[in-house]
Formats: sequence, structure tokens, C-alpha cells
Amino acid sequence: MRVSLEQAIAELKKGEVVAIPTETVYGLAADATNDDALKKIFTIKQRPADHPLIVHIGDIDQVDYWVTAFPDIAVKLAKAFWPGALTLVLPAKQHVSRVVRGGESTVALRVPNHPVTLALLKQSGLSVAAPSANLFTQLSPTTASHVEAGLGEAIPVLDGGACNIGIESTIVSVAANGQWQLLRPGMISEEDIAKIANIKPANVAAQTTPKAPGQHALHYSPRTSLILFKDKPALIKESELLIQAGLTCAALLIGDGDAPNCAVVRLPNQPDKVAELLYGTLHSLDAMRVDRLLVELPPSAPAWSAILDRLNRAGHR
Ligand code: AMP
Ligand code: MG
Repeated sequence: MRVSLEQAIAELKKGEVVAIPTETVYGLAADATNDDALKKIFTIKQRPADHPLIVHIGDIDQVDYWVTAFPDIAVKLAKAFWPGALTLVLPAKQHVSRVVRGGESTVALRVPNHPVTLALLKQSGLSVAAPSANLFTQLSPTTASHVEAGLGEAIPVLDGGACNIGIESTIVSVAANGQWQLLRPGMISEEDIAKIANIKPANVAAQTTPKAPGQHALHYSPRTSLILFKDKPALIKESELLIQAGLTCAALLIGDGDAPNCAVVRLPNQPDKVAELLYGTLHSLDAMRVDRLLVELPPSAPAWSAILDRLNRAGHR
């Protein structure tokens, strides 16, 4: 059910959930200070309670309300990348809901870069927790129609068009002592973060910064089983074997080159473009109801690391 900005604000203030657009993916939002509202997110998504939620705030000035420490490095990162696709995990104040923290001592914060959701946050004065608006482990939604297809027509959706980043935010935790760690890759790369932070990430083994709960091996998955290939010849060979065995397939290819004898979507050899179109393409390939989806992996280069992360999880069997 599509709703207006005013209706979305009214629903959120009543303690209801609303799907909202962001530049990364659509989020299933609820008032981040209302435990009953937050619990509805977990129920609708069928998400385990120990997976914390990202709190979306309208402005960097609101960080202090949530955290006990906003180290200089985190301030620099927020100033460099907000509004934008960077989530900062920081030490939480006592009053921050345990539901939103998933039981952690930290809270994840982001100012999203989407005009409709920024207007919602500013006009309402709310902060909203908003994980992706899909069922746990399934493909993330990048349009209002994806949300309705995944969660049903009864979910109120604020339509803000297609998401232009297209994959989930980069998550960085910053400890009170300023040590930082990449918890989830995104289109803002670890190199971009290191340049602004001006120090290297903490040694993961030292565990001075928190882990990221909820980074499941199986995630971001279409219903059709998905097989990953390092190049086109390997993918084409598999398609021939499948067709010989009487099975149907469809393929996602990156860049120019030979194609298999089945339905093919070809994305340009550009990380930003592939990120923007990735989930939409997987949603449409999934809707073809073939026996197997065959996906060509991009090169193992840093610019592709977030896309490789999502594809490797989607392809995990
Ligand atoms: P989603 O909102 O579904 O894209 O995923 C949110 C992810 O953010 C979680 O699965 C965690 O990996 C990470 N996250 C959120 N809050 C925290 C936190 N307080 N500490 C560590 N990781 C967090
Ligand atoms: Mg998600």
C-alpha cells in the first residue's frame, strides 16, 4: 500500500512500521525509541532478535543523543560521508533500546542520502531503525514494488523511486579509543575510509572493536539456486550441461564477451552500475522461475569487494 510522506510520519508516530526509500536499499522503518514498534520489524522480517538494527538519523547533531563517545575519527568520517552510505557503530548510551542494539553495547547510526527520507526525518523529528525491507536472508529491495512483492501489499510503502547506490551501506565500527574496523563492505571502500581516518584499521584478531552480528553466510539470496562462475567460458560450459540434462537457466554477465544459449542480462563492467542494478536484475532473473541462475563474478579487485561479498552470500549453498 503506497502512502504519502504525511501518512508515513503519522504511521511511524503511532508505532507502526513503514517501508522507506534510501539510496542503498528500501528499509523497513520503525521509531527507534519505541520497543513495541521495533519488535514489529523483527516479526515481519522473521529476523533473529540478536541482529542489531541501523538507526537512521536526520543530522550529525543527533549522534550525541545515542552515543557515549564520538571519537575524532568517527566525526571526520561522518563529516566526509554523511548524508551517505556509511554506517558508524559507536558505544551506545544506556537509554538506547536493547531491541535496536540486538543486545550489543553499541549502536549503529547513519544519515541516509535520500531526499524523501531526509524530509521524513527532519519533518517528524524521529529517528528510525530500518533494516532492509525484505524477509530475513532474501534479496534486498531497491524499488517499492520489490517491497510489496516480498512483504505483501499490506505493508505501507513510501515510494521514492529506485535506489541509486543499490547495495547496503558500508559499516565501520569505531571504538572509544578511535580504533576502527570495517564490519561490512559497501560502495564506500575500506580505502576511502582509511584515507579520511588517516590510520589503518585495527587488527581484527586484537578484537578491540565489536564484531558484526548478523553477517550470515547465506544472505541476499534469490529463491532460484544460484551458481557463481569466475569467467564466461566456465559459465557457458555449465549452461550447456544443464540444457543437455533438460534443465532451464538464466545468466547474469558482466561486460562484453560470449553468452550462453539462455536468457541473459548483461551489466556494464563498472562497479557503481553493477551495484545499482544488481538486486533489480536478480529479482527479475528470479521471477523467470528457471532451474538455475548462473552468475559471472567480477574480478577480485578492491573496487568490486562489496559486490563480491553480496554475490558470494547469495550463491552460498
Ligand atoms: P541491515 O540493516 O539488515 O542491512 O543490517 C544491519 C547490520 O548492521 C547487522 O546485521 C549488523 O551486521 C550491523 N550492525 C547493526 N548494529 C550493529 C551494532 N550495534 N554492532 C555491530 N554491528 C551492527
Ligand atoms: Mg538486510
